[in-house]
Amino acid sequence: MKKDIVSLLPEELEEDLRQLGEPAYRAGQIFRWLGRGVRDFDAMSDLSKNLREKLKENYRIYAPKVLRKQISSIDGTIKYLWELQDGQAVETVVMSYQHGNTVCVSSQVGCRQGCAFCASTIGGLIRNLTPSEILDEVMFSQLDSGKEISNIVLMGIGEPLDNFDNVMRFLQLVNHPKGMNIGMRHISLSTCGITERFDDLAARDLQLTLSVSLHAPDDETRSRLMPANRGRGVDQLIACCKKYFEKTGRRISFEYAMIDGVNDTAFHAQKLAALAREVSAHVNLIPLNHVEERQFRPSTSGHMKAFIKILEEHQVNVTVRRRLGSDVDASCGQLRRKREIDRNRNAAEG
Ligand code: SF4
Repeated sequence: MKKDIVSLLPEELEEDLRQLGEPAYRAGQIFRWLGRGVRDFDAMSDLSKNLREKLKENYRIYAPKVLRKQISSIDGTIKYLWELQDGQAVETVVMSYQHGNTVCVSSQVGCRQGCAFCASTIGGLIRNLTPSEILDEVMFSQLDSGKEISNIVLMGIGEPLDNFDNVMRFLQLVNHPKGMNIGMRHISLSTCGITERFDDLAARDLQLTLSVSLHAPDDETRSRLMPANRGRGVDQLIACCKKYFEKTGRRISFEYAMIDGVNDTAFHAQKLAALAREVSAHVNLIPLNHVEERQFRPSTSGHMKAFIKILEEHQVNVTVRRRLGSDVDASCGQLRRKREIDRNRNAAEG
């Protein structure tokens, strides 16, 4: 099987080329082409024909294709649906803030975590993304949109800690000084709480922000919303967050999607405040993005205000994330889901 060249670090490519009888500096030339988004060996014009043939024999290379691109008329948020080499599709969102442009990337095709409010998990997990596929979400979003990406959130389709090795390699690639060179402090990794991986992540000693998608502070509500909580439980999750914070010194943030009548009562606010204080976590409230197939609705602004007031009374550091791209199916998984429905319909109609 041919190697995936974009998933290699420059030093690995150098070693590979040496084995192919090529001088090490060739790796630098190739890496520069890859860093400009060139995904065609024949377009690498400063390489000899002979080397280009060798590369074709030994490596695979692919550029994702834009299947859909939606631009919000409200705030300019861009949502991409990319087609991958095997015909699968993933979503990437580019959001513009005052402090720069943030890209939200997917880490898997589908997801097996089954969160009750999420479109990405309908249909389950198809496969993990490769490091190069995740990198190319960032690279090609930047190239296509013309917006320089300064921040990355791993918060799109999939659970990053369920694709641990590929996500770690993606981080090495995107952070590499000879690559896109995006600093770890500008990267957030969001998890539904795969606590078995917290120690592994802490051991990497990365400067990224770990965001825990908490969404409910008690086992009854959380297990209803997020099957990942069953068999783990909020107590275990909080203990692992504490340990992570102690080991890394990096403050965790809790993501909390506000769902009308489900997790937005005074009881939930008080319990959430206690947990946030226990691990010194920052709380990020997000008004839920409604998904057609799901019955949940976003909290009313009155409920949100009352909720925030309780958190602030308990001196919890809380922010409300602006809902960007509300006119472009901004909730994770919705574009891909629509494409799947169309594909199934077309297949059924023969
Ligand atoms: S919210 Fe995240 S972890 Fe949960 S099902 Fe959706 S993609 Fe998976």
